[in-house]
Amino acid sequence: MERIVIAGGGIMGSCIAYHLALAGAASAVTVLEPDPTYEFAATPRAVGGIRLQHAVRENVEMSLYGDQVYSAFAEHVRGGKVEFDPQFRRRGYLYQVRGAAGIAALEANVRMQRELGVEVHILDAAELRRRYPSFRFTDVDCAALSPADGQVDPYAALMGFRKAAEGLGITYLKDRLVGLELSGGLVRQARLASGSSLPVDTLVNVANCWAPEICAMVGMSVPIEPVRRQQFYFLAQQEIEPIPAMRHMDGLAVRIHQDGYIVGATNPQGGFNWELEHEVFESTLWPQLAEQSAAFEAIKLKSGWGGHYDMNRLDGNPIIDRFDKVPNFILAAGFSGHGLMHGPAVGRAVKEMILDGGFRTIDLSRLGWRRVVENQPLADDGPTA
Ligand SMILES: Cc1cc2nc3c(=O)[nH]c(=O)nc-3n(C[C@H](O)[C@H](O)[C@H](O)COP(=O)(O)OP(=O)(O)OC[C@H]3O[C@@H](n4cnc5c(N)ncnc54)[C@H](O)[C@@H]3O)c2cc1C
Repeated sequence: MERIVIAGGGIMGSCIAYHLALAGAASAVTVLEPDPTYEFAATPRAVGGIRLQHAVRENVEMSLYGDQVYSAFAEHVRGGKVEFDPQFRRRGYLYQVRGAAGIAALEANVRMQRELGVEVHILDAAELRRRYPSFRFTDVDCAALSPADGQVDPYAALMGFRKAAEGLGITYLKDRLVGLELSGGLVRQARLASGSSLPVDTLVNVANCWAPEICAMVGMSVPIEPVRRQQFYFLAQQEIEPIPAMRHMDGLAVRIHQDGYIVGATNPQGGFNWELEHEVFESTLWPQLAEQSAAFEAIKLKSGWGGHYDMNRLDGNPIIDRFDKVPNFILAAGFSGHGLMHGPAVGRAVKEMILDGGFRTIDLSRLGWRRVVENQPLADDGPTA
């Protein structure tokens, strides 16, 4: 049987391993994951939003599959000795825009989302104020509300997939991929930090922000780099009506988290930076929150954390493909802040690439490598991250 080595055991690696195991290929698969605590991995640092609103059709389709899986996790993810519950909650998502261009893009995206079966309502500012009276909506002309959007516990989702994959016979090696040996235009051996090596028939690179280092091992240069996202968890003194995840086209995003809320900020500059800057909350985010709602004037910052998006600078969408020059090298990275929701669909898609000869369920060919080579970004004017 083909020997499949997966570099990275986060949500992507674990969803791919799980789908390969379901198809009976567990004995062929080794997942390399150097850190079983996932201290710096993106997955446990995610907020857990399962968003159905996207501007790219394939992203909506992948989210719909993510919704199916996460909302009935015990039914879909089986085989682990310990069961994890990612605690899926339907909270809704409200994407707010202003200006003629923003409205036109929102309307076109809503049409596409509805065609795919997503329930989305367009609400004007008056209706928004009626539904969410604690908010002012001063710089909003209209918004799209998708009530079914969900939220999960990302760590439980990851562990659920990993434990189920292991339960079905997948091996996770606590080791790091440090080199690849090629001959005849194919990857033949994977060299590991421990000094050992593994024979390879297919190499899958799902190392997220570290994926470019692995791409470089086969001469593939990708426009992916780490982009820091900070999240701040706060309590509001005043109780308000239940709210969906709210995002403004200019970037401010606030949503319910535990018994309070979280708000996030993305640093447009690339590079790893693990320091949490409380200053960003104090001087930028809090004033913006207070402008949105009087209830966010008196708040108490509880905690915060930072993580990194594997940002695809070309168009903010993943690259899921074989490398044309080394066809047994598969890359699935560049998720740019929406990988948790797409993990299950990517797991199934990569399994189809390896075992079924190509995509069988969702056609992800537009997310392929060619658009990078040809410098043809996918048009995406929807919500980011
Ligand atoms: C603050 C924040 C909030 C987010 N919120 C959301 C959200 O609400 N919804 C959503 O869908 N997405 C969200 N995301 C994005 C989501 O977390 C990621 O897209 C997703 O977790 C990527 O999964 P992954 O498995 O590719 O990466 P990771 O979880 O980072 O896993 C990659 C793994 O590769 C391993 N690795 C690195 N180098 C090597 C090597 N050389 N050899 C072997 N293994 C290696 C690492 O140890 C790591 O465990 C958020 C991200 C951040 C940072």
